[in-house]
Amino acid sequence: MATPLSHLAVPLALTAALGTDSVPPGLMALALVCAVLPDIDALGLWLGIPYEHPFGHRGFTHSLPFAVALAGAGALLAPSVGADASIAFWVLLASAASHGLIDALTNGGLGIALFSPFSSRRYFLPWRVIEVSPLRPAVLFSRRGLHVLRSEMRWVWAPCLVLALAGLALRGLAD
Ligand SMILES: [Zn+2]
Repeated sequence: MATPLSHLAVPLALTAALGTDSVPPGLMALALVCAVLPDIDALGLWLGIPYEHPFGHRGFTHSLPFAVALAGAGALLAPSVGADASIAFWVLLASAASHGLIDALTNGGLGIALFSPFSSRRYFLPWRVIEVSPLRPAVLFSRRGLHVLRSEMRWVWAPCLVLALAGLALRGLAD
């Protein structure tokens, strides 16, 4: 996985890019949850579910079908957070789907079951540029942790910052 913190970059960038009229705080909160929820499968490692199992780490909850289902369920809550349902769906889908895709850019662990439950095959993207995050959080506070965070700054936070600034600029032009 990438660190949970870095998965938050995508919904934060989308919120900045689209503005709080489209992404009110309640929708942003749902998007933040969607972005980190796939790593709930890491708990399975402690429950004895093997990494390579369909419900193991980077399995079903990291897939694109799971992201679609999560976004669909989240979009049902759109009226209660003051958001448009279709905008909510796309923001939540981008947030949830980005998780597996970012993990598929990492250089360690097993691949991502992007099409689970239809296929258990695990994939990486052709560019495995992100240093994989250790599963033990304590390691993040070490030299290796700094190396991981630097890599995520470059390959996750920097592109998200560009997305956020581009959205801000476009909205500024439209006003
Ligand atoms: Zn993950």
